[in-house]
Amino acid sequence: MRLVLLGTGVPSLSLRRHGASQAVIVDGEALVIDCGHGSTLQMMRAGIDPLHVRHVFLTHHHYDHTVDLAHFVLSTWITGRDFPLKVYGPTGTEMMAEALFDRAFSIDIRARTSRGTQRRRGIQVKAQDIDEGEVASAGAWRVSAVRVDHLAEGTFSVGYRVESGGKAIVVSGDTRPCRGLVELGRGADILVHEVFFSPELEESGVPAGRRPGSVSPDFAQKVRHTKPEEVGAIAREAGVKRLVLSHLWSDRDLDQLRALVKKQFDGEVVVGEDLMAFDC
Ligand SMILES: [Zn+2]
Ligand SMILES: [Zn+2]
Repeated sequence: MRLVLLGTGVPSLSLRRHGASQAVIVDGEALVIDCGHGSTLQMMRAGIDPLHVRHVFLTHHHYDHTVDLAHFVLSTWITGRDFPLKVYGPTGTEMMAEALFDRAFSIDIRARTSRGTQRRRGIQVKAQDIDEGEVASAGAWRVSAVRVDHLAEGTFSVGYRVESGGKAIVVSGDTRPCRGLVELGRGADILVHEVFFSPELEESGVPAGRRPGSVSPDFAQKVRHTKPEEVGAIAREAGVKRLVLSHLWSDRDLDQLRALVKKQFDGEVVVGEDLMAFDC
């Protein structure tokens, strides 16, 4: 299997880090996990043909993980997808697909299909609200999910485990430390885990890329994310072979970030960058 980090960023706008997204490539097929800002174009930069993607898995409904779904679906339809895309995610996924493609973009879709310039088939999205357990499988791969501890209002968040040929790649999504993720990550060849580390926030009370006063004074206490030492402890406890840090709030002091994680985990730790690729 091959893992490609399509986006390693957070909601703050960054030219270096696009919105959360990764592709797991199994026997030439790319399974896309999360669809944050810019992910469709990042697939192209990574040499992944967006037209061949059949399955998209969403970890949760924060927009930095989902906002490019509309662009992905519409642009691949226009350029030639002729099969329905499958989209899986926690409660709210079916609602979002319906809102986007039956309502928000319905004028455009109707205009192109009624004129006969575009066929309907490729714009059909088979969205499915999922929960814990096996989510999808095909001959070469299976994907399972567990609930993690992050977005709780009206729905929940999940992490995903992709398995193929005795190998496993696990993606945490956003979460604070939780048991489920340790179990999901058990013995994984690669664990992509979010991390909450921001020298800017510690210094000024505001994360990089945001205006002073744009977050509440207790922002760090209220958000449900995972500190560097906690990520290391999870990787150690789960016994993963390689840890890849993603969902990065800052580009400063990355050596310090890595050192903090290494305090708890003596395996390989990589601070993720957009378009990095890993094989296992
Ligand atoms: Zn996020
Ligand atoms: Zn989130």
